[in-house]
Amino acid sequence: MKQFWSPNSINKNKAMVENLQSHGVITSDDVAKAMEAVDRGLFVPDPSYAYVDSPLSIGYNVTISAPHMHAMCLQLLDKNLKPGMRVLDVGSGTGYLTACFAVMVGSEGRAIGVEHIPELVASSVKNIEASAAASPLLKQGSLAIHVGDGRQGWAEFAPYDAIHVGAAAPEIPEALIDQLKPGGRLVIPVGNLFQDLQVVDKNSDGSVSIRSETSVRYVPLTSREAQLRGE
Ligand code: SAH
Repeated sequence: MKQFWSPNSINKNKAMVENLQSHGVITSDDVAKAMEAVDRGLFVPDPSYAYVDSPLSIGYNVTISAPHMHAMCLQLLDKNLKPGMRVLDVGSGTGYLTACFAVMVGSEGRAIGVEHIPELVASSVKNIEASAAASPLLKQGSLAIHVGDGRQGWAEFAPYDAIHVGAAAPEIPEALIDQLKPGGRLVIPVGNLFQDLQVVDKNSDGSVSIRSETSVRYVPLTSREAQLRGE
C-alpha cells in the first residue's frame, strides 16, 4: 500500500518553522504562516539541506541566508508587512524572502525584489513559480523581481513601508532612506568584516532613528564585477 504519511518536504518545512517558534525567533503568527506557506525546499539548490539552520551556497560567490536570519528579519519588519503594504527586498537572491514578503502583504500589496545577477533573477522566478503560495502573486503582478543595482533601491514603486537588504553595505545607501515612507522601516546589515544588523525607522517628520539589533555576517552589497571577482 502507498504510504501517504511518509515525511515530506512540507512537514520538514513546518518543523523548521516550529523549531524557530520554540526558540523564540518567531513570535508573530503572520511570520509563522508566511514561512509555513513558502517551502524553503523550493528555493535551495540541494533540498536535502533546505531545512538546516545554516546559510547555503547559491553560486556567484553568495549564499541564501540561514532560516533564523530570514525569520529575524521578517519579525523586525512584521508591522510593516501587513496586507496592502509595499516592500522592497534588495539582493533578493533565491527569491525566498521576497516570496515570504509577498505572501504577507498579499495581492493588494506589492513586493519587489532587486538582484544584480541576472541568472539569479531568472532562477528566483522559477523558484517562485513552483511555490503554490507565491506563484499566483507573481502572475497577478503584486510580486516582481528586477535585475538592478539595489544600492539605488527601486524608485518605480517608492515609497516603501518596509525595505530589507540581504547583503552588507559599507554604509547605508541614501537612496534606500529616501525611498522609505514616514513610518517605514529599513533592515540592513552594515559594515565590512564586522557587521551590525541595523534597524532604521523613518519618523513622521522625515528624520530617522537608527539602532543595532545584533552582530551578523553577510556577503557584501557591492558591484556585480567585484562580487564575481570574489572581493
Ligand atoms: N536574501 C537572499 C540572498 C542573500 S545573498 C536569500 O536569502 O536568498 C545577497 C544577495 O545580494 C546576492 O544574491 C547578491 O548577488 C546580491 N547583491 C549584492 N550586491 C548587490 C547589489 N549592489 N544590487 C543587487 N543585488 C546585490
